[in-house]
Amino acid sequence: MTETATLARTETKTEHFDVLIVGAGISGVGGAYHLGTQCPGTSYVVLEALDGFGGTWLSHTYPGIRSDSDLYTFGYRFKPWVGPPIATAAEILSYMGEVIEENDLAKNIRYKHKIVSASWSSKDNLWTIEAHRTDTGEASWFTAGFLWMCQGYYRQLKGYTPEWEGMDSFKGTIIHPQEWRDDLDYKGKNVLVIGSGATAATVVPAIAADCNHVTVLQRSPTYFIPGRNENDLANILRELEIAEPIIHDIVRKKILFDQEAFTRRAISEPEVVKAELLAGVRAYLGPDYDVDTHFTPRYRPWRQRIAFVPDGDIFKGITAGKATMVTDEIDRFVEKGVLLKSGKTLEADIILTATGFNLNVLGDIDFTIDDKPLNFADTVTYRGMMFTGVPNMLWIFGYFRASWTLRSDLLADFVCRLLNHMKAKGVKRVEVALREEDHNMPLLPWLDTDNFNPGYMLRGMHLLPKRGDKPEWAHSQDYWREKDEVPAIDLDGPEFVYH
Ligand SMILES: Cc1cc2nc3c(=O)[nH]c(=O)nc-3n(C[C@H](O)[C@H](O)[C@H](O)COP(=O)(O)OP(=O)(O)OC[C@H]3O[C@@H](n4cnc5c(N)ncnc54)[C@H](O)[C@@H]3O)c2cc1C
Repeated sequence: MTETATLARTETKTEHFDVLIVGAGISGVGGAYHLGTQCPGTSYVVLEALDGFGGTWLSHTYPGIRSDSDLYTFGYRFKPWVGPPIATAAEILSYMGEVIEENDLAKNIRYKHKIVSASWSSKDNLWTIEAHRTDTGEASWFTAGFLWMCQGYYRQLKGYTPEWEGMDSFKGTIIHPQEWRDDLDYKGKNVLVIGSGATAATVVPAIAADCNHVTVLQRSPTYFIPGRNENDLANILRELEIAEPIIHDIVRKKILFDQEAFTRRAISEPEVVKAELLAGVRAYLGPDYDVDTHFTPRYRPWRQRIAFVPDGDIFKGITAGKATMVTDEIDRFVEKGVLLKSGKTLEADIILTATGFNLNVLGDIDFTIDDKPLNFADTVTYRGMMFTGVPNMLWIFGYFRASWTLRSDLLADFVCRLLNHMKAKGVKRVEVALREEDHNMPLLPWLDTDNFNPGYMLRGMHLLPKRGDKPEWAHSQDYWREKDEVPAIDLDGPEFVYH
């Protein structure tokens, strides 16, 4: 702790809470709801760096921003979703706003509080948290018995843009979608979008009609699932005047049932699934379009997240002649656009770098444990939620192949069960520790890249905790297993050490 920080702390009041939730995105707001309902009497505060709730859905403001998974499963288990399955950021924010209002959560959330450090003291069994006000720069101090990390996995305000040669020479505007400005005038302009993931699939249909032309440049193609933004089962149940909470429950179960079958097939018969996905794309683009070059990925389905494309809107832009796909590599930027390795130049007024995220490892917070700096890469994860040597902390890291919120709800139940268990036992500290039989276990990177390999994870893997080769010591990324396994975890098992 620096001298100034010590000074600041003695001069300001330190507030104490039983639990401190980091972040007011979908996970943090859900956490607040579950704490209030499952652990009544537990004091807590949510600290959020941004000036409002929503996380991802607040910080992303580019045209067309929407979910790529359905809101029946991306929505909370406890709050029915009543809109179309794929939702805009504004619709998700409004849904979250209702959750906050209906459950009177606002009083426990402090915005514009960026946490910069968190220190654990084993003597006091407490975390001490320093947060800086993003408007005044003022420091505020908190102590908490438990840290519930809902800070997501990427930096909200700065996206990842690779360094390309000659970027300075480009005379137009280069912008990352995460830094979108409302005054960016793209009307009648030639826009080049670099990247073809979910972001590109969302922004391109939203701007294509107003631009002169949009070109999507990709190094390699991505899988998409085009389909109607409707859920037939929900529509039928609504016609039958079934109550919304029941519709929510049934439709979630049906979607999860179908997704499980799809995921298992993607692993057991990847070529068949690939052919089906490509047929879906061909149906929109017609027999003459070069689907092999532009829409046939080199990886097996589900190695990266598959974006759902409502009503095939990106494909409609292509067939209308407003958008063009180019599969090639950048040699360098030039004054008028980019020169490709094939020798062709793509001219543009605006270049949108939809090139991914910067990983944020546990909130970019400086952690110490008993005054020693904590490097998460030196820890081993317990089921992708807790870490060896790190007491009283849990991180919500959702699923890649199923909606994130399924896990944030599931782990919220776990945190509440753990907190209630500690209370009943009369203990103040819980840590996970390798068991006798785990000591010779090989320690592997956080993610099995054979199974899943998004770029931001590959770039940041060396900073993340390690995984073991047993189910207890890895994030399985499998909702269908975890939905039964997590509620059945024996909190008095040998991997939990209490003090
Ligand atoms: C464009 C886009 C679309 C997506 N669509 C889907 C989808 O359809 N389905 C799906 O399952 N997933 C989707 N995801 C993944 C998505 O990020 C998660 O599903 C989910 O929104 C994450 O919620 P979260 O609350 O855990 O984290 P976030 O939404 O990232 O929120 C974390 C919050 O913590 C705050 N925070 C971080 N560090 C600190 C700190 N040090 N101090 C204080 N506050 C801090 C941040 O400001 C932020 O508000 C999408 C992601 C993006 C970027």
